[in-house]
Amino acid sequence: MMISVVVPCYNEEAALPRFLDALRQTASDLFAEFGCDTELLFVDDGSRDGTLSVLRDAARNETAIRYLSFSRNFGKEAAMYAGLQRARGDYVAIMDADLQHPPSMLREMVSVLRTGEYDCAAARRVSRTGEPPLRSFFSRRFYRLMNRISDTEVVEGACDFRMMTRRVVEAILSLREYNRFSKGIFSWVGFRTKWLPFENQERVAGETKWSFWGLFVYAIQGIVGFSTVPLVFVALLGVLLCAGAFLMVLYIIIKTLLFGDPVGGWPSMACMVMFLGGVQLFCMGILGEYLAKTYLEVKRRPIYVLSETSEDAEKNRNF
Ligand code: UDP
Ligand code: MG
Repeated sequence: MMISVVVPCYNEEAALPRFLDALRQTASDLFAEFGCDTELLFVDDGSRDGTLSVLRDAARNETAIRYLSFSRNFGKEAAMYAGLQRARGDYVAIMDADLQHPPSMLREMVSVLRTGEYDCAAARRVSRTGEPPLRSFFSRRFYRLMNRISDTEVVEGACDFRMMTRRVVEAILSLREYNRFSKGIFSWVGFRTKWLPFENQERVAGETKWSFWGLFVYAIQGIVGFSTVPLVFVALLGVLLCAGAFLMVLYIIIKTLLFGDPVGGWPSMACMVMFLGGVQLFCMGILGEYLAKTYLEVKRRPIYVLSETSEDAEKNRNF
């Protein structure tokens, strides 16, 4: 029996040595307790620092360590997809390279999956200590909104740290969409998931790749990817405005019949034109967002491009 741990890495040179130490320890604990082997599959997401050379060294010395390297930065979603595609284990875990996801939880996850009751064991952050308050606030709003307008439930605090069986991995891989929003994808595929709570940890080294704006765009991507309610909202808004316009026409006709037609009212007209222009552009923006995503999907571009793998490197050495 084998466990694969997929680790997306983008500029993690500083954190990797400590991560490797921690995972070696965990792997030997897992072996001692469950008798299972652990393979570490790192996905270098086009890092610009020494991440790749750290990985090359590690893979050269230990057969349990493998890596894939992207030709450029494709994002964590793409890195997770690539890792899941190439993982060989019976159980596959995904975790971050910055030790924000406690490796000791892998043990707990294995024991949950081994009971056969669950197909997936996932970590859920129960505290947000160390996070800017504004970010926590918007993040909560996002989960609220998302769960209200989408059929796919997104659990608050759910993170990508999880372990799943082969069957779940196959299901996730069968969703080949280009705009990947894993929180939604994990939930969309279903299966019985056991949530394991954990406290937020600080990064051991390096810094987060997420800016506020980056998170905002990611949230929009999640909404567009898993809900079409904004389109219905646009249509409803159109109907409401039409109804308003109809009432106004009635009002003007009656007023003109009763009191004649003195010139005036152009400032209100100007405001109205501007308001309607704004509403139309806003709605077109929403439509455009869906159209843009459709455009990207129909191009059927690959989710990532590899530039090197540990298997290639080994072949070259033997050549
Ligand atoms: N990551 C990645 N590609 C990216 C951004 C991040 O593979 O474009 C990896 C990163 O190396 C880390 C994980 O995704 O292992 C989570 O990133 P980060 O710690 O920056 O996010 P946070 O924990 O702050 O949400
Ligand atoms: Mg992190």
